[in-house]
Amino acid sequence: MRRFAAVLLTLVLVLPSFVFAADESTLVGYSPRSSQTERDWESKFRAIPDPANLRENMRRLSAHPHHVGSAYDKDNAEWILARFKEWGLDAHIETFNVLFPTPKVRVLEMVEPTKYTAKLEEPAVAMDPTSNEKSEQLPTYNAYSPDGDVMAPLVFVNYGLPEDYEKLDRLGISVRGAIVIAKYYHSWRGVKPKVAAEHGAIGCLIYSEPQDDGYTRDVVFPQGPMRNADGVQRGSVMDFASASPGDPLTPGVGATPDAKRLSLKESKSLSKIPVLPISYGDAQPLLAALKGPMAPDEWRGTLPIPYHVGPGPAKVHLKLEFNWDIKPVNDIIAKIPGSIAPDEWIIRGNHHDAWVNGAEDPVSGTSPLLEEARALSLLLKQGWKPRRTIIYAAWDGEEPMLLGSTEWVEAHADELRQHAAVYINTDGNDRGLFEMAGSHSLEQFINGVARDIDDPETKMTVWQRQHLSQIANAKPDDRKELRQRADLRIDALGSGTDFTGFLDHLGIASLNLGYGGEDEQGIYHSVYDDFYWYTHFSDTDFVYGRALSQTIGTSVMRLADADVLPYDFVDFADTVQKYLKDLEKLLADKQDEIRERNQELDEGVFKATFDPRRPTVAPPREEIPPHLNFAPMENVVEMLTHSAKRYQKALSQRQTGLSEIQAETLRALNAKLIESERKLTNEDGLPRRPWYKHLLYAPGVYSGYGVKTVPGVREGIEEKRYSEAEQEIERVAKALEQESALIDSAAQLLEQAGP
Ligand SMILES: [Zn+2]
Repeated sequence: MRRFAAVLLTLVLVLPSFVFAADESTLVGYSPRSSQTERDWESKFRAIPDPANLRENMRRLSAHPHHVGSAYDKDNAEWILARFKEWGLDAHIETFNVLFPTPKVRVLEMVEPTKYTAKLEEPAVAMDPTSNEKSEQLPTYNAYSPDGDVMAPLVFVNYGLPEDYEKLDRLGISVRGAIVIAKYYHSWRGVKPKVAAEHGAIGCLIYSEPQDDGYTRDVVFPQGPMRNADGVQRGSVMDFASASPGDPLTPGVGATPDAKRLSLKESKSLSKIPVLPISYGDAQPLLAALKGPMAPDEWRGTLPIPYHVGPGPAKVHLKLEFNWDIKPVNDIIAKIPGSIAPDEWIIRGNHHDAWVNGAEDPVSGTSPLLEEARALSLLLKQGWKPRRTIIYAAWDGEEPMLLGSTEWVEAHADELRQHAAVYINTDGNDRGLFEMAGSHSLEQFINGVARDIDDPETKMTVWQRQHLSQIANAKPDDRKELRQRADLRIDALGSGTDFTGFLDHLGIASLNLGYGGEDEQGIYHSVYDDFYWYTHFSDTDFVYGRALSQTIGTSVMRLADADVLPYDFVDFADTVQKYLKDLEKLLADKQDEIRERNQELDEGVFKATFDPRRPTVAPPREEIPPHLNFAPMENVVEMLTHSAKRYQKALSQRQTGLSEIQAETLRALNAKLIESERKLTNEDGLPRRPWYKHLLYAPGVYSGYGVKTVPGVREGIEEKRYSEAEQEIERVAKALEQESALIDSAAQLLEQAGP
């Protein structure tokens, strides 16, 4: 999964982080001597990954469809296990039993004003040898749609976002009792049936519009990379953001054979109305049969039809039935024990299951993961001894909704809370820029890694390339910060892939990394995401696959070997400061917007601009949002900034003597650092969704994969629960105060440790 989760960075001016290392080449958390040893091992590592192996891994893993419960999914799991073992790693398969529905009946037909039966098929293409594995392919569907049999007039709802329904209200159109048809993208797919159901719709279709990933952008498959008229995006619509990801029947606990299971009815995470994804080939006749008002300009796509909204006269019949089976998911876990600090864990994962053949998603990430493990095992044979324990994981069941990783996290929650320092995730890989997202205490760290990796095509470092590209695309006001700030800002994590359980549920500092952005693609979650497509239209020579192995392997080694875990809190405090300003601006903008709209209502603006022949409805008058007291957060952010600088100074002053610090002190210091992300969680979780315990990062209830930073406060403001937002400010401030105290105590350990 993971696609289109990125959020744009908005930048504010800050002072540059001060330079703290006497010698710039000394790695943070290392003494000059241990840094040199580390750099030598890392260079050896980076010479090993081989594009020929990456290609061969992909060919093998994507040779057949390998969704949850399929024969080849199991076969791949055993093959991955055999590779880990062949390389001498201590590896095993861990199996969980999860609810995984597959389609039994899929009927979509237009019954009025003309008849049309949707094909719901992705045909084989002659030049693509794996597109014809029909008997092994999952049909096109949305997993965790309920069974249903509905017939109703159709309404076109653009992307199906909450604001699209506000627009429909203005047009005087209700979707109550209707079936809606929404375009893919601009929100996570599961949000579309969720919002539709909240507005009274009884069914939902989601189609891939050519403007978004079809012929408007480039030539369609197999001649080009884009989605053809039959291509369909499968995908999960589990309401994971309101409830939890993972097995819907065992929320909060591992789906082991003896786990207590909810009944299907009791589960909170299934979609509320039947939902089916379709191609634009199947969507076009339905859309063409709609009448009613023309869709607003920005809603219209590029099919050769007038885009009307409806309702009707198109009337459609949607009938869906699923096999509600319990299926195994097989996670492959490989361990490299730490030599000095075996109780501190660095975990690295990518999923191995796919919707169909999944060469891009996920194998373009799984294949580099395997190449990293092979390279690390070669270093072990040459005498490299990582200080900390390293765990490599190939997750199963990511596509249905992070099943394998979530169940593993829930089953091992106690030991992970105690031992896990960092989780690094990837989910596929393409050609282009290095994209960094994650916990902001790791921002400085991952910037450092990016400075040491060469971009395979331009030969500059991947950091330089990202930096210069951000300057090229920045607003004038933001360029100054880009040129002055030591580190590039990294995106916060929403969801959509396997870091979710680690970060949001347990508070384990996490990174999600990958290369991409250079090539267009329109095969996401279709049968055409396969070896033929990837080797013709993406990282065809696997040099970015090699760069991914080099980048992630370097990150894993650098985290595993550091004397002191390389967290940094100055960038973190700066980010929290920025979030606070964002929240204050969000509220002020909302107040301005409603004040202005109320005034326009008083002035009769809507009456004046209304076309009497095409009647529209004026927006409702709303109360202006109250002022909120941000003072608790404002005060604590200053405290946090102070503690962060104190820690950074203490660490830099001890840098040359790090190797002489007593083992016991180092152990205590690292234990505190591991705690630092946990302090940002609250045991009670977020309002109405207790599984999500992180107070700074969460997927949005109405954005899905898209992140909501400081979610309790932000969603309180967005959804007009102002007193709740104020309570959340207090909770966040309290957590940040404890964070600040922890950072101070870590600084104190360093201050007292040295000469
Ligand atoms: Zn994926």
